[in-house]
Amino acid sequence: MESIGALKKDGISMGELVEVPRDVAVCPYCGSGLFFEVNEACEENGYWWPDDVSTHCSDEPPIDDDLQWEAFISSHSLMPYVYLLPVENKVRDWVRDNFFIKD
Ligand SMILES: [Zn+2]
Repeated sequence: MESIGALKKDGISMGELVEVPRDVAVCPYCGSGLFFEVNEACEENGYWWPDDVSTHCSDEPPIDDDLQWEAFISSHSLMPYVYLLPVENKVRDWVRDNFFIKD
């Protein structure tokens, strides 16, 4: 049991957007940096840990810009199980190794 494990990790909030270092992962579609947010957490040993994590390309346009979104989606939706899933899995493992939920 690693009860002090949490002390070596950084605390983040649910839904907080946090930058992913480029040596961990970059966007598989355009090579830009990534951000992640934690969507779901699970409790273990008295701490809350990241469970479900989603990634966002830093090139993502503002959500209210329809035209830019269309272009972004069309350039970022090719075979996600082949391109995006391995990257998301890698980021999720990295997030689980390095963060806990602080509130
Ligand atoms: Zn991208």
